[in-house]
Amino acid sequence: MNYPTPSSTVAVTNLNHAFGQGTLRKPVLTDIDLAIYPGEIVILTGPSGSGKTTLLSLIGGLRSVQDGSLKIFGQELKGCSKKHLTQIRNQIGYIFQHHNLLKCLSAYGNVRMSLKLHPEISKYQYRDRAVAILDAVGLGDRIDYYPEKLSGGQKQRVAIARALVAQPKLVLADEPTSSLDSKTGRDVVDIIQLLAKEEGCSVLLVTHDARILDIADRIVHMEDGRLQSQ
Ligand code: ADP
Repeated sequence: MNYPTPSSTVAVTNLNHAFGQGTLRKPVLTDIDLAIYPGEIVILTGPSGSGKTTLLSLIGGLRSVQDGSLKIFGQELKGCSKKHLTQIRNQIGYIFQHHNLLKCLSAYGNVRMSLKLHPEISKYQYRDRAVAILDAVGLGDRIDYYPEKLSGGQKQRVAIARALVAQPKLVLADEPTSSLDSKTGRDVVDIIQLLAKEEGCSVLLVTHDARILDIADRIVHMEDGRLQSQ
């Protein structure tokens, strides 16, 4: 029986990217092809400097596409209006190494910021949703703490809660467990996995952490700006 191929959340075709210009031009990504489908968890590995973060930031709409095609939720990012790009970004949960929490807001306040980007979520649900996700990352007793009172790992967990609270359709994570102990790291990837399997969220996760490779549906390896055969 032939089933239709589900449309991909991420479709990258023939993507090239370089930094610098003229004689200083340095190609960083070459001929990248990658598709990620709803509910799929793809882990991206590769040595430092191979281009993983650059690819993640392009897919996240945080850098302009120079050459090739990059579609997120079916929308081509190149030439996309600012308004559209903002709408796309609001559907993406970003978990980056630098958590960039707002110091003037509590853990709850930081997580609520993410909910405010979603008009479909009633503000009466904010507290319940935020408490549930902070609880899930093990910070149920730190909801009203400000970042200065939280450890590095706790701040990272707030950032993860902030990225996941609105149940994004796509999660982009760069070394999400690097500052976490193994138990918390496992809890966090279990939440990401649950989101993928229950809500059909797609996940692209960069990691060197061998302990979490088992959550991947597919592992792709990057070497010198090229994706190795998948
Ligand atoms: P990875 O995430 O695999 O460590 P990166 O995507 O961070 O790799 O970097 C790939 C290459 O691009 C590296 O050589 C890095 O020095 C270079 N690079 C990354 N960002 C910039 C930038 N903003 N300007 C110039 N070169 C950059």
